[in-house]
Amino acid sequence: MENDYLLLTPGPLTTSETVKKAMNKDYCTWDDDYKIITESIRSSLLKIAQVDPANYTAVPIQGSGTYGVESVISSVMPEDGTLLIAMNGAYGERIAQMADVYGINHVDLKVDEQQPVTAELVKAEIEAHPEITHFAMIHCETTTGILNPIEEIIPWVKAQGVVTIVDAMSSFGGIPINVQELEIDFLISSTNKCIQGVPGFAFVIANKLILKGTKGNARTLSLDLYDQYSEMEKNHGKWRFTSPTHVVHAFAQALTELEVEGGVEKRHLRYCENQRKLSQGMDKLGFKQLIDDEFQSPIITSFRYPTDDFDFSEFYQKLKTAGFVIYPGKISMVPTFRIGNIGEVYDKDIDSLLGAIAKISNATV
Ligand SMILES: *Cc1c(COP(=O)(O)O)cnc(C)c1O
Repeated sequence: MENDYLLLTPGPLTTSETVKKAMNKDYCTWDDDYKIITESIRSSLLKIAQVDPANYTAVPIQGSGTYGVESVISSVMPEDGTLLIAMNGAYGERIAQMADVYGINHVDLKVDEQQPVTAELVKAEIEAHPEITHFAMIHCETTTGILNPIEEIIPWVKAQGVVTIVDAMSSFGGIPINVQELEIDFLISSTNKCIQGVPGFAFVIANKLILKGTKGNARTLSLDLYDQYSEMEKNHGKWRFTSPTHVVHAFAQALTELEVEGGVEKRHLRYCENQRKLSQGMDKLGFKQLIDDEFQSPIITSFRYPTDDFDFSEFYQKLKTAGFVIYPGKISMVPTFRIGNIGEVYDKDIDSLLGAIAKISNATV
């Protein structure tokens, strides 16, 4: 069964045939064979995160990426803590929404959607609010495709004694991140982004010492991060509650394929080349990149509408018929659409996409 189109959406994304095939069986959720696979996934994730397993652990959580972020926010924050949230897009705002749901004190650092969060802004906020105990930010804000400079911000924040949380959902596995060196205490990502698996669970790379200190803080049962960790440790890879068995097998296969490709460094290069080729080609066709090159991620690119009367839904439908699915824009200020470069997407695919867009644009002019 061939796919009808290439997904140029940053998750779910286009997966390999072999990742899809790994789901072609029914698997038991609690026996030793299965627990061994879960344990091998956890240890691969620690390698990708460049951390010492003595100090860090990887905890999978059933659900989409948001469930992973919500698991951290609802399980880690103590009752009397205050969370600083840096936001320049929808995913930062979503964390503030979670804090509201749980009645968690939070300070919001709002930054223009087209600009990165900077160290200066974060420093000023932390100095102005000595009550801040925890800090959360987004690495690649998928809303626009902007890359926030975690390496300039997180180590300083941690040095102030503040616990650090990074939503690296759309970057982990596609951009090298040294979690230990940066002193990220909780990093969240999911199966269906740069590791190129199918949707079904999120995972948290957690500083063990800090995680252990959160025991009893959880505000829900099913998203209790400490409890999931504790069960995984006690029972060597056993999930609490039914796990997405097919997704887990597909993810194990995707991790193998990441290694075969040459690891995160190589994948990062491929994504960067995809992005560069896409952006240069689109520019020639009259579609301008929204974010400055300096802050543009290799994950997803926002393009401004070329004209005031540009009909996105017509453009979208024609591209879909030509075999490519793209994303609408997600920001309020400027009309844009987005194209993802992650997944099983190569140089030749970008060429074909640009060819299809050239045809469609000429036809509509
Ligand atoms: C995809 C994504 C999420 C999670 O979205 P889900 O739809 O719940 O998987 C969170 N943060 C960022 C930055 C993302 O790109």
